[in-house]
Amino acid sequence: MTADGAAADGASADDAADPVAASAADRPWMRAARAAGLLDDDGTARPTIFAEMSALAAEHGAINLGQGFPDDGAPAAVLEAAVAAIEAGVNQYPPGRGIADLRHAIAEHQQRFYGLHLDPEREVLVTAGATEALAASILALAGPGDDVVTLEPFYDAYAAVTGLAGARHVTIPLSEPGFQPTAAAIDAAITARTRVIVLNSPHNPTGSMLAPEHVDRIVALAARHDAVIVSDEVYEHLVYDGRRHVPVAIHPGAAERTLTISSAAKTFAVTGWKIGWVTGPAALIDAVIGVKQWLTYVNGAPFQGAVATGLRMPDDTFAAVRATLQHRRDLLAAGLVEAGFSISPTAGSYFIVAEPPAAFGLGDAASSARALAADPGVVSIPLSAFGRPGGPVSPTALRFAFCKPEASIAEAARRLQQYRG
Ligand code: PMP
Repeated sequence: MTADGAAADGASADDAADPVAASAADRPWMRAARAAGLLDDDGTARPTIFAEMSALAAEHGAINLGQGFPDDGAPAAVLEAAVAAIEAGVNQYPPGRGIADLRHAIAEHQQRFYGLHLDPEREVLVTAGATEALAASILALAGPGDDVVTLEPFYDAYAAVTGLAGARHVTIPLSEPGFQPTAAAIDAAITARTRVIVLNSPHNPTGSMLAPEHVDRIVALAARHDAVIVSDEVYEHLVYDGRRHVPVAIHPGAAERTLTISSAAKTFAVTGWKIGWVTGPAALIDAVIGVKQWLTYVNGAPFQGAVATGLRMPDDTFAAVRATLQHRRDLLAAGLVEAGFSISPTAGSYFIVAEPPAAFGLGDAASSARALAADPGVVSIPLSAFGRPGGPVSPTALRFAFCKPEASIAEAARRLQQYRG
């Protein structure tokens, strides 16, 4: 059965005798691929747009402002701690919830930056990146008959995992200016069917930060319908122009029903380490462990202590990361405007959303991203990859990442400025 209560396409009485054949038209991997917009009519799954665009970058020797991975090194102390841990023999399974030192460092971090008090023994879980934290949270809490609500555009994993869970994906459109939701859209999306509401601020792909009145409204509706909020805060330290990140869990009434997710990936430029975490009420964390332990069980023992070192670094280290990225945001924004793009201002994250100039004579975003990768050799991601057909996402906008060296950003800008379609 699909989430909408319809029988899976093509299932027959014969199929029912064979559990594998019975699900042939609706196997879990197909639901995930379909939900992420990657299932072709012939039943095969395409690679994600990130994989496709990174491959095009390699093929054309293009500057890759597509996938959001930084080219910078991590802070030296963090790298040295990982090397020392490997050499000291920290190479076996860590405890299921993560090593105690990292769980304590996560709790200290939430206290230091946000005044949130967490019990490191029961309210903190270390995961294989934010990705596993998201997957385990959604799979633990939502299933057929339930709605998972996200903003739209959305990070593709939310849709895929919701499909895997067999739940229905309902969205709250974000609209310009500022990529914010309307109160009416929030009210329409969150209903008695809603089990999980996934929020993401600072937001990938738009770079917006959710205004506090919208968060309050969402928390009130979550409370009315007894839904859980899963707050993806992986860009918590990448906020610009003096803004401050405010975790959803701080909003009145939110802590008791919010799972907060973050990761070392963006803050410390270690996307390959896959160390993430989820924090929240003990009963909800236990539910997430109920799934997480069967996915990876544990991961990254020597990296966990290194991330603890990172989380304990002084405030000015976090400020320096912010300042570097803010400068790169400004460089890329100015370069895109100079090339004729119209851009949406970025409050946080790694990304700028930009509409190509009409003079480029490009088509929809997917074809223009492919065309620009070949000539003039600049890779972006079509914003449409973060939305559903017929949804609110601009069909022509592109997402550019500025977590790249200044020289790469400057060269990308130069190429786009010289390109005339
Ligand atoms: N959430 C968002 C919004 C992201 O942009 C990313 C990384 N692109 C993730 C989660 C995944 O984080 P991790 O690499 O820690 O799994």
